[in-house]
Amino acid sequence: MSVVTISNVTKAFGDVVVLEHFNDEFKDGEFITLLGPSGCGKTTMLRMIAGFEKPTSGEIKIDGTVVSSNKTFLPPEKREIGMVFQSYAVWPHMNVFDNIAYPLKIKKIPKDIIHKKVMDILEVVHLSQYAKRIPAQLSGGQQQRVALGRALVAEPKLLLLDEPLSNLDAKLRESMRYEIKEIQKKLGITVVFVTHDQVEAMTMSDRVFVINRGVVQQVGTPYEIYSKPSNQFVADFVGKVNFMKGTASGGKVSLTGIGKDIPYHGGLKGNVIVTIRPENIQLVEKDTDTLEGTLEKIYFLGNENDCFININGVALRTNAPSHFHDTLKVGQKVYLKLKDYLVHEDDGNNEEITR
Ligand code: ATP
Repeated sequence: MSVVTISNVTKAFGDVVVLEHFNDEFKDGEFITLLGPSGCGKTTMLRMIAGFEKPTSGEIKIDGTVVSSNKTFLPPEKREIGMVFQSYAVWPHMNVFDNIAYPLKIKKIPKDIIHKKVMDILEVVHLSQYAKRIPAQLSGGQQQRVALGRALVAEPKLLLLDEPLSNLDAKLRESMRYEIKEIQKKLGITVVFVTHDQVEAMTMSDRVFVINRGVVQQVGTPYEIYSKPSNQFVADFVGKVNFMKGTASGGKVSLTGIGKDIPYHGGLKGNVIVTIRPENIQLVEKDTDTLEGTLEKIYFLGNENDCFININGVALRTNAPSHFHDTLKVGQKVYLKLKDYLVHEDDGNNEEITR
C-alpha cells in the first residue's frame, strides 16, 4: 500500500518554479531519499508533504486521504506525521523522558500508557539509561536521538527527516545513519529523508530521487543510480566519475584525444559521452588493448589511492589499492583497462553539471 501519493505536484514562489511535475508513490515501509544540491527543491517537497507549504498545482495523498489539492488543505497537526529537522529542537528544560512523552501528553493519553510507550521508544533509540538527563547533558547524537524518539512515540505512519545528521561530526554521522536505518526497519515505518549527502542516500535508502533545479533526474535504488546513472548530472552527483568524449559507430566508440577505440554495442551514433567510475579503470600491465597514460598526481586515502592520470591531455581519475602507494611514482607511465562504462548521448550540456 502507498503511504504517500504525489500526483503532478508543482511549486512556484511567485514566478520562480522550484519544483516541477513531481509524481510518485512511496510504499508502506519504504525509505525514500530526496537527494540533490542546495536549492534543488528537496526541502520544499518535504514541506509540502508535511503541510508547511501548499503545492501550486497537483495533489498529495497520505494514507489514501487527500491532504493537499486545489480544493483541500490539511494543516500539519492533522497529518499525523513525525518530523525531525537539522536542529535538534528538543526542549532544553525537559529531561529526555519528558521530551519524548510530550506529544502524548498533549494528546491527553493516560499516564500509564505514556510511561510504557516512552520506555519502549527509549529502548529503540538506545537512551534508556539517559531518561532523567536534560539535553545539555547529552552529546549531539544523543540529542538527535531524543528528537527521533519524540517523532516516533506517537507511532506515525510517516516520518520526515530533513538533513537530521548534518550538525553531527563525521564519526557520529556515520553511526547514526546505520542506527536510523535499523530503527526504520525494526518499526517498519515509511521515511522520507532529505539530504545533499550522497553517502547518506546510498547507505540508508530503498529508493533515491535525484533532483536538480526542481526536476527529478532519476529514481532508483542506490545501486541503480550509482551503476546506471541516467545522465551526467546523476553520474557526477552520486560518487566520483570520469567523462570522456567520443564518437560512436559500428560496434565501437573512438575516444576523442585518446586515439583509442573501446567496444560499444548500443544504439547511439555520433557524439557521445563515455561515463566511467574510477574503480572501473584498472591499472594493469601493458597489453595490446590498454590505454597508456602518465600518473600526474596520487593521494593516499588510507584504504586506497586516488590517482590522476593524463592520456594525451585527457584527465582520468582512478583508484589504486592502498599498497600501490609505495610503488607508484608521479610522472611514471601507467596502463589502463576500462570496464563497465556507460555511453550517453552528448547533449552538449557538459558545463551544466553543478554541485
Ligand atoms: P537546501 O539543501 O539548501 O536546503 P533545498 O534543495 O532543500 O536546498 P529548497 O529549500 O527546497 O531547496 O529551495 C528550493 C528553491 O526555492 C530555492 O531556490 C529557494 O531559494 C526557493 N525558496 C524556498 N522557500 C522559499 C520561499 N518561502 N519563498 C521564496 N523562495 C523560496
